[in-house]
Amino acid sequence: MTGTTVRSVETVALRSEPDEPFGYAQAWVEERTALLVRVETADGGVGWGECWGPIAGSRETIEDFLAPIVEGRDPADVERIHEDLRDRTRAAYQSVVPYPAISGVDLALWDLRGKRRGESVASMLGGRRRDAVRAYATGHYFKHGADLEAQYERITAEAAANADRLGAVKAKVGLSLLGYGPDEDVELVRRRVRDAVGPETTLLVDANYAYDAGTARRVGRELDDLDVYWFEEPVPPTDVDGYARLRDALDVRVAGGECHTPPEFDRLFEAGAVDVAQPDLCNAGGLTAGRRIADRAAGAGVPVVPHVWGTPVAIAASLQLIATLPGRPWLEFDSSSNPLREELAPDGFAAGDDGTVAVPDGPGLGVDLDADALDRYRV
Ligand SMILES: [Mg+2]
Repeated sequence: MTGTTVRSVETVALRSEPDEPFGYAQAWVEERTALLVRVETADGGVGWGECWGPIAGSRETIEDFLAPIVEGRDPADVERIHEDLRDRTRAAYQSVVPYPAISGVDLALWDLRGKRRGESVASMLGGRRRDAVRAYATGHYFKHGADLEAQYERITAEAAANADRLGAVKAKVGLSLLGYGPDEDVELVRRRVRDAVGPETTLLVDANYAYDAGTARRVGRELDDLDVYWFEEPVPPTDVDGYARLRDALDVRVAGGECHTPPEFDRLFEAGAVDVAQPDLCNAGGLTAGRRIADRAAGAGVPVVPHVWGTPVAIAASLQLIATLPGRPWLEFDSSSNPLREELAPDGFAAGDDGTVAVPDGPGLGVDLDADALDRYRV
């Protein structure tokens, strides 16, 4: 394989509307947006990446600052390029590294590297341990206009359907968005969702940091009795001490990481603050950082179940990493409405009858994006 160089680094901003707006502890989701990164080489190869979070910020950072650093480089040097981007932005932005922007570029370079070698990313990371990954359903969001009983009914019906399909579901708590409190959250899980999905279903609970540590301890003790598998983001991401104290105080596993950067994962592991680590590849620095976090987690004896949210690019990248992880990791399977997820890769990442999702076989990330859908949603 002869070397090539990066000719261009471009962003592709996408916007779509879900069937119906939905809410979680921190916000209402009125639109589904994505910022993809398209890297093209001098010989016409194309790699795709994705950035977590708002389009604004990452788009400008990539186009105006990161692209000139990457252009002219050999995409095979992805880890070296990643470190250059991290170090250059750290110096430029008063030590605040824009990890979502770096993530998108990093993922596109891994995709390109794999395509040039004719190898999947999982193969380049050392080989897959599994060809399909069990999935759990994320969804069960709050909806506008429903009173509390109606919220409970809609959520439990959705959870029951997802439990039938996948055998593992994640309930959202944080009804504070609607003016309720932790008692209503506990009621939702205790007397509603657990009853609806039955005792055999794996039940996870995600607070999206709705609580302070004292409230989270109280809620967590209720979850202890309900055979909840993990309690996700009970407190704000910066409260590492709160995480650690909760982990000591509760039986239920404490999970977190979707909002954490690599140095923050270092602190979580040093403090023994989580039972399950959830790096998001589009937020924490792409596959370069994701693999390093996973190695760190393995050293600390902490299983990794990546946070996954977004388009088929994010899903494919996550599956490539998950295929290589020890233990029995899950794929977080977003079942909420998102035309981008449903239409950008029509062959998609559907769950099979056994509740697993296949790891893509193709080179790189193993995802082919539909050009018409890209045009349809591009802004
Ligand atoms: Mg979450």
